[in-house]
Amino acid sequence: MRKLIALSCVVSLLWLLPTAVNAQAQADGKKVRMLIVTGGHGFEEAKFFKMFDEFKGVEYKKAFFPQAGELLKPGLEKECDVIVMYDMVKSITPEQQKAFVELLNTGIGLLCMHHDLGASQEWAEFTKIRGGKYCMKAETIDGKEYKSTFDHGQDIKVTVADNEHPITKGVADFTIHDETYGSCYVSPSVKVLLRTDHPKSCPDLAWVHEYAKSKVFYLMLGHDSKAWENPAFKEILERGIKWSVGR
Ligand SMILES: [Zn+2]
Repeated sequence: MRKLIALSCVVSLLWLLPTAVNAQAQADGKKVRMLIVTGGHGFEEAKFFKMFDEFKGVEYKKAFFPQAGELLKPGLEKECDVIVMYDMVKSITPEQQKAFVELLNTGIGLLCMHHDLGASQEWAEFTKIRGGKYCMKAETIDGKEYKSTFDHGQDIKVTVADNEHPITKGVADFTIHDETYGSCYVSPSVKVLLRTDHPKSCPDLAWVHEYAKSKVFYLMLGHDSKAWENPAFKEILERGIKWSVGR
């Protein structure tokens, strides 16, 4: 019996070990490892990656579609804490979709930004993963019709909708020069962090939710360097990265 108790203690300790190791790694200030995925939409590459270079406590690898589709599968979570999706890929294969969902079951962080809202138009599950969709064609979701629009070069007044959430706590309302997306679908189950009353924009600009075991943050802002140089934008993006990996 004593042997059995001793054995069960060892087993319990083994279970506890990964948690303790993770906590220690975080306490040691280990860098957040990101995979930044792009493709299917142009952007100012050098300035975009420069923004991430300036964030403290993060490091990243780049991946591009279509090759990136092969990386988004279980196992990635061992070398990467969060996937940052800034792509607008038309589609990925059914096998890649299945592997991506399995990857999100590992609890890897997911941050989707700006035009990623229009990626994988025909994959309904990705709307659930992101918590929203830019609808390129008129379509009905949850009984309401959407046909999304975009307008470049807008001055958008942004209001913080949640003053308690770690991503937006203490952030003051701000104005940003950016592209607006109008008439987008946003799932009623997400927690909205940023809003606007800009007439050409849908009211919800950023939200969080959970999909499978992953923490998901979607940020609608971020068309080009005019937005990326906005201090409030950078602060929110950096906090979003850290929140999605549980820091
Ligand atoms: Zn854009």
